[in-house]
Order: sequence, then C-alpha cells, then structure tokens
Amino acid sequence: MFIGGFQKFTMLDYPEKVAATVFTTGCNFRCPYCHNAEIVNPKLIDYEIGFQEKEIIDFLEDRKGSLDGVCITGGEPTLQSGLTEFIKKIKEMGFLIKLDTNASHSNVVKNLLNEDLIDYWAIDIKTIPEKYGIMTKKEDIIKNIEQSIDMITQSRGDLELRTTIVPGYVTSDDFDKIIDWINNINPEIFSKLYRYSIQNFKSEKTLHKDFGNVVPYDENYLKKITEKMKKVCDNVVMVG
Ligand code: SF4
Repeated sequence: MFIGGFQKFTMLDYPEKVAATVFTTGCNFRCPYCHNAEIVNPKLIDYEIGFQEKEIIDFLEDRKGSLDGVCITGGEPTLQSGLTEFIKKIKEMGFLIKLDTNASHSNVVKNLLNEDLIDYWAIDIKTIPEKYGIMTKKEDIIKNIEQSIDMITQSRGDLELRTTIVPGYVTSDDFDKIIDWINNINPEIFSKLYRYSIQNFKSEKTLHKDFGNVVPYDENYLKKITEKMKKVCDNVVMVG
C-alpha cells in the first residue's frame, strides 16, 4: 500500500458517519479536472512523506468507539496490491468501510465483494461512455465499469454514483444518455442507489493546468441536471 495522505477526522466524506480518510497514491485515469495531482501524477508523488499502514492501524486502534468508519480514496485505491488485507485489518477492528473508486478494476471489486468488506461504495460516473476515453485518457474500461456497478447493485453494500459537471465533458443533455446507460447495466440500479450526487467543477488546483481557466457552470445549470435525475432516483443531492 502506498498511502499519500491521511485525514484523522471528517464528517463530510462518509454520509451520516464520523470517519477518517485514507488517500492512496496513483491512478490509472488522468481526469484533467482532478484536484489530487500530488497523489495522482507520478512526477509529483513524494514517497518520502507517505504514511505507513501501521501508523494508521495504531491510530484507529485508539479511535475505536469514537469513529464510525474509514473512507479509502485516492487516487484509485484498487491499484494497491495490499488493499484487501489492509481493509480486512480495519474491518476486524469494527469500523465501517467506504471505498471511492472509478470502478475500472472489476476484478478487484469482485474480490472485495466476495469477502464482503465494503459497506459503502462511491463510484464516479465521469460522463457518457463515448466520452470516457477523452475525459480519462484511458480506453476500453466501460465493460469493467459496467460489471463493477452491476455486481455491487446485487450485493449488500450501499452504492452512491456521482458526477462532477465539468464544462465541455458533461452536459445536461448527456444525462439522458447517462440514465439510459445505467438502466441498461441493470434496471434495478436507480431504485437501489443510496444516492446520486451532482457536484460542480472547481477550477482550483487541477491536474491539467489549462483547467484552471475553465469557468464552472452556474447553479441553475446544476439544478436543471438535479431535477432531471430526480425523475429516476429518489435521493439526488447537489454538492459543492
Ligand atoms: S478524478 Fe479520480 S479517477 Fe480521475 S484522475 Fe483524479 S483520482 Fe483518478
């Protein structure tokens, strides 16, 4: 496990829970709007200032009873070879686990589901399938994402889907296609979702420097998308 950041307390990252958040380094995507360049771009990762697993396990041992859960985010956590064992250790201490993932490693998702280790999955729906390659700089990942979402829908854990509304990459019209895409993966997804989050793009600290000049959509545009999603999903939230 390469851990590039650790937040000891958060009431924002895990819905309705008090949690700590572990940030793993590295990602197989290169979303230009990403705000975590220092743990995603290999040239910026400083392995000298990373956290040891033991530090985190020791900290959590002291927080039993005062924290509900642990969020594991990135970067892309499913790239980490020791992820399953790390999560098992935390789970055995009695904490809930939330995993943020881009869902492209469906084999890892399958293993985690088989071991019943994840209580809450948060998966990014970056854009419509046709634009995923342009947005993420990663081709041939749609089938894997579909498999991951389908497997999770049929499992025990809560599932949140979320989209950052990045000008040029995601439009209000795209949500008609996103709704069709998700329904085609499994028609039960929307009825089983914990929530769908609509998040505004922020131009600060972006992975691609040109995105610092991109102007976010206004609030009314996001409200329009939120209303569209409310027609298919009971719990749609607008964040940021
Ligand atoms: S936004 Fe997420 S999936 Fe995209 S590059 Fe950043 S960490 Fe990776």
